[in-house]
This record gives sequence, structure tokens and C-alpha cells, in this order.
Amino acid sequence: MNLVVILGDQLDVNSAAFDGFDVQNDVVWMAEVSSEADHVWTHKARIVLFLAAMRHFRDELRGRGIRVDYTELSGTGTLIGELRKAVKKLKPSKVIVVEPGEWRVKNDFESLGELLEIREDRHFLSSVADFREHAEGRKQLRMEYFYREMRKRYGVLMEKGKPVGGDWNYDEENRGSFGKTGPGLLPAPLEFAPSALTREVMALVEKRFGGHPGKLDAFGWPVTRAQGLEALSDFVANRLGNFGVYQDAMWTGEPWLYHSRIACALNLKLLNPREVIAAAEAAYHRGDAPLAAVEGFIRQILGWREYVRGIYWLFMPKYVERNALGATEKLPDFYWTGKTEMECLRQAIGQTLDHGYAHHIQRLMVTGLFSLLYGVDPKQVHEWYLAVYVDAVEWVELPNTLGMSQFGDGGIMASKPYAATGKYIQRMSNYCGHCQYDPAESAGEKACPFTTLYWDFLMRHEERLSKVGRMDMQLRNLVRIEPAKKAAIVAKAEEIKERYR
Ligand SMILES: Cc1cc2nc3c(=O)[nH]c(=O)nc-3n(C[C@H](O)[C@H](O)[C@H](O)COP(=O)(O)OP(=O)(O)OC[C@H]3O[C@@H](n4cnc5c(N)ncnc54)[C@H](O)[C@@H]3O)c2cc1C
Ligand code: SF4
Repeated sequence: MNLVVILGDQLDVNSAAFDGFDVQNDVVWMAEVSSEADHVWTHKARIVLFLAAMRHFRDELRGRGIRVDYTELSGTGTLIGELRKAVKKLKPSKVIVVEPGEWRVKNDFESLGELLEIREDRHFLSSVADFREHAEGRKQLRMEYFYREMRKRYGVLMEKGKPVGGDWNYDEENRGSFGKTGPGLLPAPLEFAPSALTREVMALVEKRFGGHPGKLDAFGWPVTRAQGLEALSDFVANRLGNFGVYQDAMWTGEPWLYHSRIACALNLKLLNPREVIAAAEAAYHRGDAPLAAVEGFIRQILGWREYVRGIYWLFMPKYVERNALGATEKLPDFYWTGKTEMECLRQAIGQTLDHGYAHHIQRLMVTGLFSLLYGVDPKQVHEWYLAVYVDAVEWVELPNTLGMSQFGDGGIMASKPYAATGKYIQRMSNYCGHCQYDPAESAGEKACPFTTLYWDFLMRHEERLSKVGRMDMQLRNLVRIEPAKKAAIVAKAEEIKERYR
């Protein structure tokens, strides 16, 4: 008898875990353990999403005649502790698991020694070994080159060996904002009313994790494969066409805009990236969505998503300890409450607490940008992102946070820090119009904290950043600032930090 372990983010009946599965003898093992919700202070919606999706998957397997040994939320248990108990009870000849999405879990499981068989995760289009090979001998691991290789390897948006349309990248066309008139009427995304099973989990989470951040009132995430597929079709039919041009734009009270909202279904493996890419490509070939939108979307899945996983497994376990800029500030408390006078952060964190969601630019250029400029310890920033987003799983969250947004890895993910003043936020949103600060001001009463902290950041890291080639222009602008103004900025930055410490 084999014990086949299915983790909360491995809900795929076609996964390698089921290869050769013997319905007569083998047993699937699944467990809900509170330590997984407690090791970071997890958003209630993220806990509900995982537990509800696991329970629906359990019932689906049982419906297929598969024996599932399932532990509902246990008090103090850890995954490995619960698994050891199951091994003692069931005495399997082998424990089979697909590569976990977190180094910590994989490391714990490896303590089972010879009993354990780890299988490759076929969900991804690039295996850990493929990425290692890609990385071999390269000085830099830029996403763009990896992405081009993937396009060629899988023939995605390719024509006679060349990229469809002649270019690999349409980023220039994908930086639109909504202008003064705003986004107008937006196509509301499909929301899934919680089933009885999901409602049961919601009640349990309110009871067991009532003090955790976030709300459940608006929970409408897909928790089954069927719902994941519906969410994908809804996006392709109604929002993909405008995804490209508005992917970086933000607007007050509009959390979804033209985004797909499918990262959670993908990361739980309810959806397969191949079917997502195929659906987007088919929309282009049918003439339902422009090339820039489709290429921009596919780049996120075939490019970024696969690339960050490669980075994670290439550099873990040491990656999580990296802190290239020596940032040591504590994460300001308002990240957990949304109570701040800064309108952009109030909006981005507010919707995060309401839904467990913010889109990429809100994560990178609002919450991420503030903590980068403020100098928050990147590990604390990482723990916040891992806790508050429904789509957070460490392999994807950590490189995005610590690497891309905090430059904690010193330039593995990003060729330079994503540092900008409040003017970037002003250009891409309407937030500043509702704010007491002025993004053009770096000192004085109305100074925008982003703008002040941006210049302070450049001054603090001038020497180090002068070695980062693409920072030249930003550092040249710093040189033009008069010494008296610089002193006023430093004093203002200290005042801002004191306010949030
Ligand atoms: C600081 C920070 C933390 C992040 N943490 C996570 C995380 O925990 N989990 C996660 O899935 N994504 C994370 N991302 C990437 C991205 O922000 C989310 O994938 C996206 O916002 C999810 O919303 P969506 O499904 O509507 O995506 P869309 O905007 O519609 O994009 C389509 C899909 O592309 C993929 N994708 C887009 N950007 C990335 C990226 N940079 N890395 C990997 N996949 C990407 C996702 O699967 C996403 O569903 C993070 C980004 C930043 C800057
Ligand atoms: S002025 Fe500054 S703090 Fe206020 S919304 Fe704009 S960027 Fe954010």
C-alpha cells in the first residue's frame, strides 16, 4: 500500500502523485494543520480558500472511489507530525508526494528517508532541473531571455520560428492609465457564492482564527476546478482584451479592473497553466483580443510565473535570508489595519484586507514601494505578503517580494530597485487626488512620504546603487539637488519614519 500525500496547493487529479495509483490498495492522505495558518499571521480568506478547496477535492476523490485519509483542522499539529502519525497507523510501503511548493515542507518531508518518493511537479512548464540548466553559466538571469526560450520551446505565439507580430514584447503599449474620466463601467468578474461546505469552513475559520487579519464577507474565490475554469472563461470573454493596456493602472474602489483573478486557482493547481495560455492564445487567433493584451498576459504565466519558481528553487534556502540593502525597519502597523492617511496605501491595503487581493502594480508600486523606500526588513515584508494574499504560496511570493520588490537579493530578479516617487502613483491612478499630500513635494508639510523617502533612499544607498548600471539617470537627478534641500529631505524622512515606527 502506498500513501499518496496531497498538499493544499496540489489539487490536481492529473498530477504525478496519481501515476500508477491503485484504487484497491493505495490511500490518499490530506491534512489541515493549524501551524500552516499560524506560521505567518494568515488572512482569513486565504485560510478559507485552502481549506474549502481541499475539502471539495477530498469529496471529489471519494466520489471517484478513492480512499482518502483526511484530518480536519487539528489543534497543534504540524504537517510532518500528522504524516508521521499516519505512517505509524497505516504502515505504507511508500509515501509518495509531488515536489512541495515550499522549501520548509520539502525539507521536513525528506526526514522520512527511504520511505519517501518525491515526484516532479508536472504542473509547471519548466522543471526545477530545466531552470537550473538555463541558469548554468549565465551571469544574469533575466526573465526576458528565459521567456523567449519558453515561447520557442512550446511554440506559443510563434510563427515560422519568429514571434507572432514580429516583437517579443509589447510592454510599450501596456502602460495605459484611465485618465481623468476613470475606467467607466467595468465588466464585473464572476464571483462564486460559497457552497454549504465552504460556509462550514468560513464558520470554522471565524471561530478558530477570528483574530487573524482580513474579512470574509465578500468571499467569492473559485474553490473547485469547475469554478476555476469558469473564472478563466469569464476573464477571456470579458476582460482579456483590455488586460494589456490597463494592467498597470489603479483606481479608487476598483480592485479587479481588467485582471484575471486566477492566480489562486493556478497556484492551488485547480487550473493548469497550459490551458490558461491556450485559452488566451486562441482568443487572439479568433480576433477576440489584441496581440499586446494576449502577449502581455501570456508573458505573466509562461514567463514570470515559471521564472520565479526557477529562482526560488535555485537559491533556497539561503534566499529568504538575503538583505542586500541592509534594511532593518519594522513593518509599520498600518499594513495590518489599512489605517493610514496615505490614500494609495489605504486603498491597496484596504482591498487586501477586504478580499485578500491586490493587483501586481499595487503590490509592487504601492505596498512594496513604500516598504522598500522606508527600509523595512525584507523578511518581514515577505511574511506580510505570504500572509495576506489568497494566491500566496512561498515559491511564487518570496522571489516577487524579497527579490523583485525589495531588491533584497541584490539584483537577481530585478536589474535595479523598483524605486520611484509618488509621481508614479499619481500617473497610474487617481489616488493622489484624494490625498492630503502632494506627490511633487519632497519636503515641507504637504510632502508625499513616497517622494521624500525616494530621495532619502537614493542618498542612503548612493554608493551601492552607483554600481548598478541602470540607476545612472536617477542618481544624476540626485546630484542636482542643493545640499540645503537634501538636508530638509533627510529631516523629513526621519520625521516620517518616527511617525510609523
Ligand atoms: C510583492 C509581490 C508579491 C507577489 N506575490 C504573489 C503571490 O504570492 N502569488 C502569486 O501568484 N503572485 C504573486 N505576485 C505576482 C502578481 O502580483 C500576482 O500573480 C497577481 O497580482 C495575481 O492577480 P491575478 O490573478 O488577477 O493576475 P493577473 O494580473 O491577471 O496576471 C495573470 C497571471 O499571471 C501570473 N503572474 C503575473 N505576474 C506574476 C509574477 N510576477 N510572478 C508570478 N506569476 C505572475 C499569475 O498567475 C496571474 O494570475 C506578487 C507580486 C509582487 C510584486
Ligand atoms: S500623494 Fe503620495 S501618499 Fe498620497 S496617494 Fe499620492 S503617492 Fe500616495
